[in-house]
Amino acid sequence: MKTLNNFNFKNKKALIRVDFNVPLDENFNVTDATRIEAAKPTIDKILADGGSVILMSHLGRPKGAEEKYSLKHILKTASEVLGVQVKFAENCIGPVAKKAADDLKPGEVLLLENLRFHNEEEAGDVAFAKELASLGDIYVNDAFGTAHRAHASTTIIAQFFPNDKCFGTLLAKEIESLNRVLKNSEKPVTAVLGGSKVSSKITVIENILDKVDHMIIGGGMTYTFVKALGGKIGDSICEDDKQELALEILRLAKEKGVQIHIPVDVVAANAFSNDAETQIVDVTKIPDGWQGLDAGPKSLENFKKVILESKTILWNGPLGVFELPTFANGTIELGNYIAEATEKGAFSLVGGGDSVSAVKQFGLEDKMSYVSTGGGAMLEMLEGRVLPGIAAILD
Ligand code: AMP
Repeated sequence: MKTLNNFNFKNKKALIRVDFNVPLDENFNVTDATRIEAAKPTIDKILADGGSVILMSHLGRPKGAEEKYSLKHILKTASEVLGVQVKFAENCIGPVAKKAADDLKPGEVLLLENLRFHNEEEAGDVAFAKELASLGDIYVNDAFGTAHRAHASTTIIAQFFPNDKCFGTLLAKEIESLNRVLKNSEKPVTAVLGGSKVSSKITVIENILDKVDHMIIGGGMTYTFVKALGGKIGDSICEDDKQELALEILRLAKEKGVQIHIPVDVVAANAFSNDAETQIVDVTKIPDGWQGLDAGPKSLENFKKVILESKTILWNGPLGVFELPTFANGTIELGNYIAEATEKGAFSLVGGGDSVSAVKQFGLEDKMSYVSTGGGAMLEMLEGRVLPGIAAILD
């Protein structure tokens, strides 16, 4: 796996695909610079070597060249975060881009205009990728959030740098963290899978059954399993057509020696509302008119024991409707157990969408070994797929 350390960037122009798809307010101010900060180590290393940097990114989903999606809006923030005056090219290809790239001196940083102003980007157009490639000497992919897309700047471009391509620091760390969970993991390995539906997690579950010792199933998925096993789930969320699948997962787990842990009690509510009446009930005896919206205290006790004995932990998906404070306790507690296990030496990876927002919201981010930056990309890796953006560098 080639990383920045395989290259000396002195007097070289590094062409870096970053993910600067940051949120902007109505005055086009960046409201969260996390993604720019995440790319800083890669940029710093190249500049420190004596190289220069050309940054390529998309912003939003423009239809053609729409001013409101111009990357010029992020220049001020990018300059502040990176500690250099970032230059800007008003097109990512053509004479404007070429001249700006040619004029670039060691220590300088150039940001190209939004790649998605050209339809060729998402179409994975080879000629467009070739034009982008002509701007730099070494191609670096540091955009995990788009690594599952075979776009021109994330995948197709790599063929024009047969020897001079590598992963940036961020992308390398994402890959290493996942490998530490699914490949070279220290046992016992526990996966916590929550979220709303079995159907959106089924491929993940199937793929990781071969790699874990324990699987905790929580969130809305719980009720499809409980109903399939003959429990009474009241008005809880359930995918009736996935009940067979749930039983099949349990059979497979048994065959592979994986211990499955499902909530035994839940916080049930008489409405999907923060102000609803609530009661703790047995997960198999939820009254009609009530729905399970969080894990109950006995379930949390059980999960705690499993988590604290684990040496490797993967967490994807909340244990309850954490967006409503009344039903956030299970998710917060689980986060605390994982934090405690991590402090005692376990490796913990949080990835794939909503659990990442939960971890950030509850201030647990720094207590996890690694929090992934790519929702869809991480889910696809957990499903066992080889992401095109990663394959293109490994080639
Ligand atoms: P996912 O995107 O599949 O990871 O699902 C995350 C969503 O699942 C969050 O928005 C949670 O509010 C929701 N969720 C978790 N537990 C439940 C539950 N028991 N009933 C309904 N929705 C839930």
